[in-house]
Amino acid sequence: MICVSIGRTRHKMMILEQRALAEQGAELVELRLDYLSRIPDLNRLIHERPTPVVVTCRRKQDRGRWRWDEDARQKLLRTAIVSEVDYIDLEDDIAGAIPRFGKTKRIVSHHNFDETPDDLESRHAKMAKLDPDIIKIVTMANSPSDCVRMLQLVAESEIPTLGFCMGEFGLPSRLLCGKYGAPFTYATFDGERVMAPGQLPFSAMKNLYRYDHISESTEVFAVLGDPIGHSLSPLLHNRAFQHHDIDAVYLPIRIPRDSFDESLNALNWLGIRGYSVTIPHKSAARNYAHEQDDSVSKIGAANTLYKSADGVWHATNTDCEAAIESVRQGLGEGGTLKGKNCIVLGAGGAARAIVYGLLNAGAFVTIANRTNSKAEQLASELGCQFIRWEHRGKDFRDILINCTPVGMYPEMDNTPFPQNWLGEHTLVFDTIYNPENTLLIKEARERGCKTVSGLEMFIRQAASQFERFTGLTPDLEQLRMTVRKTISPVNYES
Ligand code: NAP
Repeated sequence: MICVSIGRTRHKMMILEQRALAEQGAELVELRLDYLSRIPDLNRLIHERPTPVVVTCRRKQDRGRWRWDEDARQKLLRTAIVSEVDYIDLEDDIAGAIPRFGKTKRIVSHHNFDETPDDLESRHAKMAKLDPDIIKIVTMANSPSDCVRMLQLVAESEIPTLGFCMGEFGLPSRLLCGKYGAPFTYATFDGERVMAPGQLPFSAMKNLYRYDHISESTEVFAVLGDPIGHSLSPLLHNRAFQHHDIDAVYLPIRIPRDSFDESLNALNWLGIRGYSVTIPHKSAARNYAHEQDDSVSKIGAANTLYKSADGVWHATNTDCEAAIESVRQGLGEGGTLKGKNCIVLGAGGAARAIVYGLLNAGAFVTIANRTNSKAEQLASELGCQFIRWEHRGKDFRDILINCTPVGMYPEMDNTPFPQNWLGEHTLVFDTIYNPENTLLIKEARERGCKTVSGLEMFIRQAASQFERFTGLTPDLEQLRMTVRKTISPVNYES
């Protein structure tokens, strides 16, 4: 179950939001009385409540907004209990002074906004002595392993425990706490009203991560990166799981640079079966696996880790095959890369994977990069040509591939290749997918060139990962539509 927190300064808005949430299928609402700008009129808020409620009133010291004195606050909490609200949230330092009464369930809570302390278990044991129906323990996660410790506490607790972590590192615990026995998790009314760091909006919890479907048997997959907040991979994979009716969830997990192995060893407890891997971990992922495809050894980077039934981690690179398939699609029926003259802009991870794929397919490749020495080095490693960045427009090519971020949101009025350098018979492939129609793509179309957008590569690399994770082939058109609906002119966030 998802509990949606509402905090508004006006009673009227609290009531309207609660009704709206009930219509959207919310089953439990937390009324944050401390947000009200006037002394709360509890009866008005709970009289005709459309859903059960948790009544919470946080002090400033707990990052709440209560502006009157502590006596008034405790009086309000007691009144809520006498009024038989469904749940009352009592901080662990006052819970002992407020007795149980009637049917109201007691949530004894503790928050730590700085860290997930080492003494979680002893804190939990002390809270267990305060007559709780539910123990709520919420801490700041400063690493992925903090989340895992918290979920272990939830799993081992005899008293139902709402245990999760705040912050970007804490997100997996908000999504998985139910799998380990937490009676519910918390979400916000919408993305603009986040009341604790890392809270997700109700719509994302319900419709994207399908929290209510997550159970003990749900398999877990994830994308690993830093930053990770704006990755579109959770959208693609969760929609595909839903479409194929698979009992699985796909999470974004932030893994700090330089702690890949340590973090994955901690995450092991969660039994995760497959990871998508993004910047800056593609090279570390390669070394983590027990077995790697030839493409991974040659490219030196993996974007996918998956575990076979015998517990062996495999590394593969689906960027490479996805890019080559996208180019083939752009060339049209019967199009072949063999003998094609290609220029690749950029010498980073994407360029390396794509150059490798192009050479394997029999193309002639020239690399140009802002830092010329890197182009020269990559060309010599993979066995192709390089050209100085300022000379990249010198010859017309059959295929031009942009592997730089130039033109990506928010700098969408940039292009890495001036329009007057484009040959009208050149196929232009921009690996950027946000926006789908970059300036390079638009100018190439004006020039009469065939084009391929990075969206094609993005959905194909995700589709190949999905196949490795589940053994099923997802519908590419459904994936295309899913991303297009999200990447709209008002939502260029990736
Ligand atoms: P990366 O390893 O950081 O490499 C970035 C490359 O872009 C470097 O060669 C860098 O040149 C160059 N560059 C950066 N800023 C530049 C600028 N202002 N002007 C000219 N060149 C510039 O990143 P990556 O992993 O290769 O990713 C590159 C791009 O590929 C991403 O931005 C993304 O849009 C795209 N991509 C798409 C997909 C997909 O599925 N569609 C997948 C992966 C990547 P220096 O060496 O001079 O720094």
